[in-house]
Amino acid sequence: MNIVKVMKFGGTSVGNTDRMRALIPLITDSDRKIVVLSAMSGTTNSLVEITDLLYGDSVNDASVRIEELRVRYHQVVEDLYSTEPFLKTGHELIDSHFDYINNFTLRIFTKLQEKAILAQGELISTSLFHNLLKERNIKSILLPALNFMRIDKDGEPDYFYIEENINRELKKHASNAIIITQGFICRNVYGEIDNLKRGGSDYSASIIGAVLKVKEIQIWTDISGFHNNDPRYVEKTKVIRELSFDEAAELAYFGAKILHPSSVNPARVKNIPVRLKNTLEPDDEGTLITSNSVLLDYKAVAAKDGISVLRIRSDRMLMAYGFLRKVFEIFEAYRTPIDMISTSEVAISLTIDNSEYLSQIAKDLRELGSVEVEENQTIICIVGDFRIERTGSAPEIFEALNTIPLKMISYGGSPNSISLLIDTTNKTEALRLLSRNLFE
Ligand code: ADP
Ligand code: ASP
Ligand code: MG
Repeated sequence: MNIVKVMKFGGTSVGNTDRMRALIPLITDSDRKIVVLSAMSGTTNSLVEITDLLYGDSVNDASVRIEELRVRYHQVVEDLYSTEPFLKTGHELIDSHFDYINNFTLRIFTKLQEKAILAQGELISTSLFHNLLKERNIKSILLPALNFMRIDKDGEPDYFYIEENINRELKKHASNAIIITQGFICRNVYGEIDNLKRGGSDYSASIIGAVLKVKEIQIWTDISGFHNNDPRYVEKTKVIRELSFDEAAELAYFGAKILHPSSVNPARVKNIPVRLKNTLEPDDEGTLITSNSVLLDYKAVAAKDGISVLRIRSDRMLMAYGFLRKVFEIFEAYRTPIDMISTSEVAISLTIDNSEYLSQIAKDLRELGSVEVEENQTIICIVGDFRIERTGSAPEIFEALNTIPLKMISYGGSPNSISLLIDTTNKTEALRLLSRNLFE
């Protein structure tokens, strides 16, 4: 039996025991499926706080936080199961995970240990859910993601390894319709525990769907699909019924939190539809992402914070060729991708979202000219129909934002998006103005 679909349930979808129970009717149809689970909502944040305390040598505070979380999970076990053997197994499971986390308070803390701690959220949620199904006599298999999910030396999914290993694991359980696994977690090229970065369970689902060539990848979350603006900042946002892979990828990359920035790509490469659904309102249609593009002047807006802009000015650039190459080589040396770029005859502005090497990059760029750095910037991305054969230049966008200083504009790079750089302090206002002018 082939795997028909992947169903990924995010943090809120497994956020409490009622929500976990509510998943059962959603996964018990006859399709053979992979169920990818995130950690219960708030858990990964708590684990990050614990690892931050351990990095800061605040071992006592870390222990207090670990014990608080342990108590919370024992309560989850009490609420989740109704029979003695499952209650007992549940409490033992929680203690084994928290004893493991607690062990790290006794040693010098490293990056490797941080990743091992962060993995506990997904390991716990999947075991709790698997046992819940067992208690209900619903047949399922728990397939450890650490047995097949792997990234290469560049942090990219190792598709060959993943395909070989997941298929080998699945063969062992050929008659099982429900296969549960962890999102987010993986092994790196050295076999150590690693992860696909925050929000990475979406990416896990898409990678698994792509290697198994399923019919559909479903991302179940707490909202009925992709909205045309960020509902955390703007009221009256509306769901978009259909998006193309390109549009969804662009919006996810530029800040639409509903999808991990890399999660569209594996599905796009294998042309597998991605459906966004709401576990709180399972009958809502949600959003379907396919290779189809339904052209609309303006479709959606997203915003990405934490951007730094570097402005390089050099008279040597005047009439020179090869200057941009020298600039790009510096970014390449620090493995830092550039998001937006804008050039004039003597100056160039670039934005980056990874500021780990910002000061080194700026120092090296100063060999080429004067450099100005500004942090706390936001990229606003507007997705719509901006094909070059269109007349006009999206005047509604610029009219909407005529009170907001625009620091950079990227137009013409893509037929379906325009990006603008603004100060982060203006973000909420800009998103609201765009919603009002483009969608209401
Ligand atoms: P999960 O835990 O299920 O992965 P996330 O919190 O990562 O859920 O993503 C869902 C959230 O994304 C929504 O609750 C919403 O606040 C936020 N969000 C941001 N931009 C959008 C958008 N354009 N459309 C829908 N949701 C969005
Ligand atoms: N639990 C992880 C996080 O909170 C992964 C995910 O939820 O997608 O980032
Ligand atoms: Mg998410």
